[in-house]
Amino acid sequence: MKIHRVTLPTPFAIGPVNTYLIEDEELALIDTGPKMVKTSDALQNGLRDLGYTFADLKHIIITHAHEDHFGQARFLKEQSGARVYAHKASLPMLEGLESEFDLRYNVYRRRLMRNAGAPEEVILAVQPIVDSFKESAEAVAVDEALEDGDVIHVGRTQLQVIYTPGHAAGAMCLHHPGDKILFSGDHLLPDVSSNAVIDAPLDCGDCRRRSLVEYISSLRLIQAMGLDLVYPAHGDEIRDHRTLIEQRLAFYETRKSAILGALGDGEKTPYQLSRKLFPAIREFEIFLALSEVIGHLDLLENEGKVAWRMSDGVVRYRRGTASG
Ligand SMILES: [Zn+2]
Ligand SMILES: [Zn+2]
Repeated sequence: MKIHRVTLPTPFAIGPVNTYLIEDEELALIDTGPKMVKTSDALQNGLRDLGYTFADLKHIIITHAHEDHFGQARFLKEQSGARVYAHKASLPMLEGLESEFDLRYNVYRRRLMRNAGAPEEVILAVQPIVDSFKESAEAVAVDEALEDGDVIHVGRTQLQVIYTPGHAAGAMCLHHPGDKILFSGDHLLPDVSSNAVIDAPLDCGDCRRRSLVEYISSLRLIQAMGLDLVYPAHGDEIRDHRTLIEQRLAFYETRKSAILGALGDGEKTPYQLSRKLFPAIREFEIFLALSEVIGHLDLLENEGKVAWRMSDGVVRYRRGTASG
């Protein structure tokens, strides 16, 4: 097996996305980049430099259903007839993009921001970003819905699926045990801490995932693995994943303390906490700030350090136990 990194432009704040070409008797692409002329040109050039065209792709593996990772999967599938692989929890977004996108971004996220105490003008300020996401992807039919432990065969190369929910519900990593390498998608990135995106509103009870709680247990799963090299979807290869994960875990502790400090002895909405913690944030970034704060509040609630109550559709947190 040979691994080639092809870095592609995106219109998003995260910057370029890494796709990986796995070259064996067959050719596989891990992640696709967003649907954008500049991106497909860059991928075409990257393939051509290696002596290939789109038509040579046999497998397209999607690490998770975010637009910078699957946006041009449909286009590539049409060009090549490649089989498309993703974790089964990514299917609602990948296959039902139109309705799922509307539900998540325009219904759930708006309600979550209202629940968190964000004013209407702030909620509306996020809309241009949401629209740019939507323009960057097309729905794609998945041929292989994967589960943890499944194996993808690329010629003689076998890649094992490690299910790592948190950053996204269907996030997965790909492990090659023989070479001790892992393709981490956005689960572990060298330069930024991955946001464990909250998908559902705060008032929908069981339907809301505790994304950061899930993310941290997925991080510990990777930390326990013996790996020589991690190939992330943004930034350079990671050589010492254990130290990096230690740093990330320490960072969550620091941020939990900062949130408890910001909470003081009164009651605060997640929106008020976000403003205190991230005073310099731009309006359109408020959703990610809220997602961070709510994730840490979930951790603190699990530890019995904060409790919340919902009144008039807005959730308010205080120190202590007994939520509701
Ligand atoms: Zn992502
Ligand atoms: Zn990404």
